[in-house]
Amino acid sequence: MFKKFIKLLIALFVFSIIIFFFSKLTNISVHDEIIICIDPGHGGLPEYGNKDGGDNWYEPKKTFLNYYNYGGIFENIKEHEYVYELAILIKKYVEDLNTITGYEEMRDFLKKHNIFLNSEKKKNFKVFLSRDNSAEVLNLTEKNVNRFYRTFDSPHKDKIFKGKLSRINSIKPHFTLSLHLNFVESEDYRGMLSFFAPSIETFDYIIKNKENRDILIENEFYSKWNVRSRSYAVEGFMINDANTYFTGLKNDGRFIGRRNEMLTWKYDEEKLFKDREESINEKMRRSGGYEGLGGDNLYFSNEILRYVSYFLNVEQNIDYNILEERASDFSVCIFNNSITAALELGNIYSTHDRKILLENKENIAKYIAYGIFCVNTGIHKIEEESEKIMPYGKRIDLEKYGDYFKESVK
Ligand SMILES: [Zn+2]
Repeated sequence: MFKKFIKLLIALFVFSIIIFFFSKLTNISVHDEIIICIDPGHGGLPEYGNKDGGDNWYEPKKTFLNYYNYGGIFENIKEHEYVYELAILIKKYVEDLNTITGYEEMRDFLKKHNIFLNSEKKKNFKVFLSRDNSAEVLNLTEKNVNRFYRTFDSPHKDKIFKGKLSRINSIKPHFTLSLHLNFVESEDYRGMLSFFAPSIETFDYIIKNKENRDILIENEFYSKWNVRSRSYAVEGFMINDANTYFTGLKNDGRFIGRRNEMLTWKYDEEKLFKDREESINEKMRRSGGYEGLGGDNLYFSNEILRYVSYFLNVEQNIDYNILEERASDFSVCIFNNSITAALELGNIYSTHDRKILLENKENIAKYIAYGIFCVNTGIHKIEEESEKIMPYGKRIDLEKYGDYFKESVK
């Protein structure tokens, strides 16, 4: 009898342990683990687009269709070095938030500025980088070293080597932060800004109205379009970028490739890519949303900049403005399945920006990390301070995307 009782007790004990773990498992939301990819721009050596080097390798033509973008360099700042160092710091600060000390430090910091998280739920962040340190810094001299830094896949020893976009997709991140510095040759052009790619509807609209420029000029994207030179008027750039988006052909007939075919992912066939582009997930990611346009991508991007600007203001007494966002057919915003912030963190030709960037690298990294946490929980603030650039505080809902983040892998 006693033995039976003991057996029953053991059975009950085991049963309750199983129930306990099962309930734990079912309680865990799918997105408590959040995967972040930080993509420091550039990193390779300068190369011109031809058979031996460049970017945009196009297999059917066995050639590189574009030059390799080395990035900006001025006085004491090299873009490719700065953004890599910043990426390493952001990784450190985000991973710190997985620890109790790191989390509490952030919560106290926010509290000091009357900011409160909408949820006390901890997050578990996993952070990856899309590339290693720059070729110059690592002093890499081997042939074809740029394969590690190209945006798209490229050949190496009779195999196809994965470029940055393929690597980002293989990480299956929820969020990607692409880090850049602007190099506009003007002392007065200063501040941070987001760049973003609209959804297929906008590119479609531009192509449908390409003969009617008055309509394009009235379009909500007109004032935000990224104009890179004086070769065309604004609407010329809108048409150019819509052309390259659909066909890979620029206005002048130069081919930069059908880019969805130039990386390793599920949507390399035209039909699959078109279905993806027309899907509800791409609409949420790239149109509408809290910014009114640009979807969750642009909201995430601008919101991170607002956190940086706000914290630099209240902590360091620095005024760091945010310029109007710029639209184009930017590859990193289109060809990956994650909420993507594409950030220009300052203009290296502006003494003002250069000083802020160099003196506040740690601060900027920490504020970006805090911003990432805050957009995952949402925040509320007691007492508004209207003078300053304030974060909107809205949370980005990852659940509405279902399995989207994992779906790009072939
Ligand atoms: Zn750049």
